[in-house]
Amino acid sequence: MSRTVRELLDEGRPTWSFEFFPPKTPEGATQLWTALRDLERLQPSFVSVTYGAGGSTREGTVSVTERIATETTMTPLAHLTAVDHSVAELRHVVSRLAAAGVRNLLALRGDPPGADPQAEWVAHPEGLQYAAELVELIRSMGDFSVGVAAFPERHPRSPDFDTDVAMFVRKCRAGADFAITQMFFRAEDYLRMRDRVAATGCEVPIIAGVMPVTNARQITRIVQLSGQAFPEQLAARFAELDGDTPEAKAAVRAYGVEVATELCRTLLAEGVPGIHFITMNRSTATREVHANLAAVGSPH
Ligand code: FAD
Repeated sequence: MSRTVRELLDEGRPTWSFEFFPPKTPEGATQLWTALRDLERLQPSFVSVTYGAGGSTREGTVSVTERIATETTMTPLAHLTAVDHSVAELRHVVSRLAAAGVRNLLALRGDPPGADPQAEWVAHPEGLQYAAELVELIRSMGDFSVGVAAFPERHPRSPDFDTDVAMFVRKCRAGADFAITQMFFRAEDYLRMRDRVAATGCEVPIIAGVMPVTNARQITRIVQLSGQAFPEQLAARFAELDGDTPEAKAAVRAYGVEVATELCRTLLAEGVPGIHFITMNRSTATREVHANLAAVGSPH
């Protein structure tokens, strides 16, 4: 049986993990499995699959996670959200994942379905209101390793940073073993949150979410989805390099890889418990950052 994320973190070396999303088309499935097989060679600590907003992509999350568990050498982590689910449905999804041998779950509230992630959140009438309740539900169902989300620049719905930290700590105390952050681009944002959480006595390891930017248009989408600002200086440099020529595109990619590598180096020097790469179902940029870090003695 594969190890849990909790066990991997207990080994004391930084974990290396990769995040994927469920494909919507046959071409998307081919791209996903090519990236998964490419990155499998790097022997990641675990790989995660995000949970879609509804219907077929949700089924996709469960089936891709099941396949990772049964057909690859990698340890899967399934994301699960409370959006539009009754407690009975959530139990059903958890049971199905458990039956395939999935022992790691990331418990999330999720964003309201639709184009605007900042729209009003409405709980399912027989469902859950906050991620902490999903942590408790999963815990009550068996011996899972449960993770939660963390937000270095505070969650966009939180009134201020201190309230956000207090709610995060409450969620950890509901039974979380680890946390993974929203993507961020300034190490100081992560370190400030980590230190503030530690000052409350909460020792849950907070894995850093890192996304190598591979094209300048992604930046607008990142801001839209995460509700967080993108550092101005970095955005200006990406805009300067951007263009329609193959050279300009390559320059943007190279800069994205350089920025992500530098961020990881700083975080590793600061003792981060793990780095979680958001791959967008492509392997090249993540492999390049990984190779840059391996060249200086980390990872593994
Ligand atoms: P919660 O912890 O419930 O927090 C939501 C808000 O409520 C916060 O402002 C919090 O401070 C506040 N709050 C919490 N508890 C209380 C309380 N008791 N009283 C008052 N306020 C409270 N979304 C997806 O749809 N699918 C995914 O697969 C997915 N994966 C993600 C992975 C990571 C690593 C991260 C960081 C985010 C991911 N998301 C995903 C997005 C996430 O679902 C949203 O950011 C969502 O808005 C917040 O989820 P949460 O689990 O942090 O919610």
